[in-house]
Amino acid sequence: MVANLFVLVAHKDGHLDDSALELAAAAAELFPGSSPVALTAGNGPSLDAACQEAAGAFAEVWKFADAALAYPNAEALRPLLTKALPAGAVVLLPHSTLGMDLGPGLSVKLGATYAPDLIGGAPSDGTTLTAVRQEFNGQVCAHVACDISKGAVLTVRSGAYRPAAAGAAGRIVDHSADAQGITPRRRFVEVIQAEAGDIDITREDVIVSVGRGIGEQENLPLVEELAEAMGAALACSRPIVDAKWLEKARQVGTSGQTVKPKVYLALGISGSFQHLGGIKGNPFMIAVNKNPKAPIFQAASVGVVADLLELVPALTELVKKGR
Ligand SMILES: Cc1cc2nc3c(=O)[nH]c(=O)nc-3n(C[C@H](O)[C@H](O)[C@H](O)COP(=O)(O)OP(=O)(O)OC[C@H]3O[C@@H](n4cnc5c(N)ncnc54)[C@H](O)[C@@H]3O)c2cc1C
Repeated sequence: MVANLFVLVAHKDGHLDDSALELAAAAAELFPGSSPVALTAGNGPSLDAACQEAAGAFAEVWKFADAALAYPNAEALRPLLTKALPAGAVVLLPHSTLGMDLGPGLSVKLGATYAPDLIGGAPSDGTTLTAVRQEFNGQVCAHVACDISKGAVLTVRSGAYRPAAAGAAGRIVDHSADAQGITPRRRFVEVIQAEAGDIDITREDVIVSVGRGIGEQENLPLVEELAEAMGAALACSRPIVDAKWLEKARQVGTSGQTVKPKVYLALGISGSFQHLGGIKGNPFMIAVNKNPKAPIFQAASVGVVADLLELVPALTELVKKGR
């Protein structure tokens, strides 16, 4: 248990980011018995809406309203949180672009331990935390002993924790005074929306996703045929987009689309955190990979060790026969 536990709540257009409830779950598991405070920064009505939503998941929400905070900006948040947080604070951040930008400098300013990209950890005794991180693209799990007695800044990988159930009736405390006088040099210019492709995989319930294991572009029709027979959308990992075999709108991952299907069939995908970071909502995931040690098997509900070039045509036949 730690006395001063905080969670940075990301939000957009008045709605909490998926990471908010995942961080609430991480806080409960890593620091049982503690009561995390949500840190919610922004400006205007969208901030108010986000604070209300956060109060449904956290017992206390600190609201920071200021024009300088209207858009996520680590350069503005760093001095703000350095000023607002008590000594010894333990802060959980999403391992997002914002969290990665904010975390290292914030830990230096707070004189706190920094541990990035956690995928788990043992419950802390309040002075130490054994955090779990992946190394070598998921091939190795490192258990890192962290001294948190003087505070800590921890970033948590997207999707590492199942979102906590909301149901609190938290109170919102206005800490906007701490934001006064913050003048970041980095300024917001504009939002450029990604071009809409011919398909929106983010709304699909059943996704067949293909990775580099497909080998050749000439093999893609095998997977397209399976997806069509299943009535599923076709998606892919980034190397397939980089090779221009499929369009960007079909890429799942941190630099692609975030999907929330009920079923996700991953064919020849190794399971990098950048890919898995784009799969939300805890779908039933079937992974096919010829390497029994592929990291995707750790995330999959069902794993099939097989050559997809042999399995997929047979599977398509079965689906077509309605079996
Ligand atoms: C900043 C950044 C952002 C990124 N964003 C994304 C992103 O949004 N989405 C994304 O996907 N990646 C992203 N990546 C890339 C990511 O790190 C991985 O390189 C990528 O996900 C790997 O794709 P893959 O699993 O298809 O290929 P690989 O890692 O090469 O895996 C191929 C897999 O196929 C298996 N295989 C090979 N042949 C067969 C066969 N015949 N049958 C069955 N299995 C077979 C292999 O065992 C292997 O596990 C990003 C990287 C960076 C640095």
